[in-house]
Amino acid sequence: MEEIKEETGTVNKGPEIVFTNVTKEYPNGVKALDNVSFRVAPGEFAFLMGHSGSGKSSLIKLLMLEERPTSGSITVGNVDLGSVKSSGIPYYRRLIGIVFQDFRIIFSMTVFENVAFALEMLGESRKEIEKQVMAALDLVGLAEKRNEKPDCLSGGEQQRVAIARAVVNLPGIIIADEPTGNLDKENSVEIMKILQKINMMGTTVIVATHEREIVAETGQRVIELNHGVRLLGDE
Ligand code: ADP
Ligand code: MG
Repeated sequence: MEEIKEETGTVNKGPEIVFTNVTKEYPNGVKALDNVSFRVAPGEFAFLMGHSGSGKSSLIKLLMLEERPTSGSITVGNVDLGSVKSSGIPYYRRLIGIVFQDFRIIFSMTVFENVAFALEMLGESRKEIEKQVMAALDLVGLAEKRNEKPDCLSGGEQQRVAIARAVVNLPGIIIADEPTGNLDKENSVEIMKILQKINMMGTTVIVATHEREIVAETGQRVIELNHGVRLLGDE
């Protein structure tokens, strides 16, 4: 028991995320984020809460470096995102696993191939890929479905494939944008449990949702957005 505890203590926690006075105004004049500041601590689980159009996906795009802020600064660990050049973006993105509402898995590939795909791009050995993919599939409870194609799986299982793919290279951060938006209640609860399990391993987890019910049930911290303005959360 003692040994396990010690081992858990040495797991690297996901990096801290800091937004300082971040504004994002699109070329059409829409201000998706207006002077937003918050901090997510290393290894924290935080909800990004707000109704549709409140700027959740825009905030995530800034974190993924798919968009740049109009003003303000964002840091992830010791990386100031403003100083990451286009050529550095693919390397930066390896820090983050992302999960979307619509799963975005590949239907012509098996469960295993969907999860292995990202590692193959990184040029890992066959043996290492097999080991990491099976660990990720075990984590989401899909090891026995490794050879199935996604159209044989339920929506909840398809989202679990997407989560396995997001965590397979052990990123410090997992971001999920409305991960339960296409799922029924039972599957939503299951997905949230898996995300919490991943957080318990030390990963920083950010879940964007407009579903108050989901947030209330888990009791995690909430960062609330409203028309691009950050409301006071329980920090
Ligand atoms: P949420 O994810 O909370 O629903 P979004 O970040 O998608 O919110 O959108 C916030 C606001 O920014 C909305 O008014 C939306 O229409 C606008 N918006 C989002 N993306 C773009 C874009 N690429 N160009 C212009 N406006 C955008
Ligand atoms: Mg959105």
